Amino acid sequence: MLKHLSTYDTLTELANRRAFEIIYNDYINNHKENKKDGALVFIDIDYFKQVNDGFGHAMGDRVLQEFAMIAKDIFAKNGVVSRFGGDEFIILIEHLESKELLENQLKEFSRRLKELDFLVDKDGTVFRIHFSAGIVEVSGGLESLEENEKCADKALYIVKQRGRDGFEWYNNQ
Ligand code: GH3
Ligand code: MG
Repeated sequence: MLKHLSTYDTLTELANRRAFEIIYNDYINNHKENKKDGALVFIDIDYFKQVNDGFGHAMGDRVLQEFAMIAKDIFAKNGVVSRFGGDEFIILIEHLESKELLENQLKEFSRRLKELDFLVDKDGTVFRIHFSAGIVEVSGGLESLEENEKCADKALYIVKQRGRDGFEWYNNQ
């Protein structure tokens, strides 16, 4: 039970950052034998503070829970979803079959989030949830999680600057 509490995020029941570090290191160790390439998707919810400010912290918590449930539903078959902290999530795609397949999964995730309609302003306007994501391919180099995080942050920053609600691959060229 203690182990469960220390490695799982109690709000979303996803693996937390600490658990994810272990999962990632295991993945890297196994990767030496199983040479298939993967990807890391770093996600930050857009304008999440506005949810807390406009609808209350409890509603913010509900958004995080719904976000986690949909993410698990879409990515559990080929990845591990984790809550890194706050409104930041990370997904390890263990075997990247194609960039297009992952992009389609992200588009489906985005579409399903936008179907959530429980955040309604006084004037009846629905607040739509969307996210920005930076994606890094994990291949031969087998970089540490921190190094990948730095790369993904650069890609994520580009999406935020561009106006949010999208994803970008980190290009190390
Ligand atoms: P941006 O589009 O630039 O990402 O803007 P943002 O408003 O989403 O800003 P940022 O990502 O920096 O904000 C994250 C916020 O998430 C700040 C903090 O108050 C809130 N937060 C962190 N953890 C929790 C939580 O467990 N529950 C709730 N309800 N809010 C949380
Ligand atoms: Mg955010």
